[in-house]
Amino acid sequence: MTGPTPKPWIMEIAPYVPGKSKTDDGRKAVKLSSNENPLGTSPAARAAFATAANSLERYPDASGTELREALADKHGLDPARIIYGNGSDEVLHLAAGAFAGPGDEIIYVNYGFTVYPIATRRVGATPVVAPDRDYATDVDAILASVTDRTRIVFVANPNNPTGTYASREEIARLHAGLRDDILLVLDHAYAEYIEGDIDDGGMELAKSAPNVLVTRTFSKMYGLAAERIGWGYGSAEIIEAMHRIRLPFSITIAGTAAAIAALNDDDFVARCKSENAKWRRWFSDEIGKLGNAGLRAVPSQANFVLVLFEGKLTGEAAYKGLMEAGYIVRWLPGQGLPHGLRITIGNEEETRAVAAILQQLVTDAQRDAG
Ligand SMILES: *Cc1c(COP(=O)(O)O)cnc(C)c1O
Repeated sequence: MTGPTPKPWIMEIAPYVPGKSKTDDGRKAVKLSSNENPLGTSPAARAAFATAANSLERYPDASGTELREALADKHGLDPARIIYGNGSDEVLHLAAGAFAGPGDEIIYVNYGFTVYPIATRRVGATPVVAPDRDYATDVDAILASVTDRTRIVFVANPNNPTGTYASREEIARLHAGLRDDILLVLDHAYAEYIEGDIDDGGMELAKSAPNVLVTRTFSKMYGLAAERIGWGYGSAEIIEAMHRIRLPFSITIAGTAAAIAALNDDDFVARCKSENAKWRRWFSDEIGKLGNAGLRAVPSQANFVLVLFEGKLTGEAAYKGLMEAGYIVRWLPGQGLPHGLRITIGNEEETRAVAAILQQLVTDAQRDAG
């Protein structure tokens, strides 16, 4: 007996691999593999979440009115043009579902976010991978990949897993080079971490252009990964199409309450941002000191750093050494980066420990080789 046959494009999906929270031998460890907030969640958000325990029998508001209005107030947006979903992952899937299907192409960059290939294949579209430029988004390569069949371009800015950031000029040039019937999705999951006044102009494009969707999340800076709240902003037409295929109750009452409280806790966000910037800089400098041993930190504007191992200490050995010492980071052989570890910036203690362990592993590798 044979059961139902999955669609061929579904069977081409390589399942998403989440960050581990235990070592391979089952010990609990410091998890620096999923870019979660090491400072936790705003106390106001936790209090709002707890209060929601009083209304568990109720369905959430299917139109997300309170969340949309809070976001609109905070960011100066039209609440009618906000889509939301079970994490921004769902919003990315909605974009693919509304604007691409079999026979269409979706472009994303080499070393891009792993949800893009899944969202692409799920709808039967064909992934097109644009080459990177030294791990960063290469606008020319993306534009050169466009064909008559292109429907969507996904760009995470800052990008995951590289942390690299495309400037406002680059994003403007990318948008200007795309036909109006191609949806440019700018994934701003890490937008809150960018240092200095260097906004990539994505939200302005989403406000004015007919073909730009910006996505954002409460999972990273706002410390609400558990609650799965993401959102997006685009033209009324784009958002309306996406709402048609959204699950009616994709975000929860507790998650929504927590998200709104987190959104308005400016002090918490400011503290997380400055701590991240401080330890990201410190950690990148420490990796820089190991440059003669073949280590390199790709310049990051996010809450993680991609460290490349191009000397005697390999990415795999560093991954295993860190795990042995109780620190789980993300090794990326499945993404074409067997020589790369994506390391979330933890708190001070964690960040110092990871740097010290890497220094020791470098010393050991040189001694063993020498
Ligand atoms: C973490 C992340 C997301 C957000 O995921 P959620 O579904 O909102 O938790 C989106 N895009 C990128 C690039 C990410 O790294």
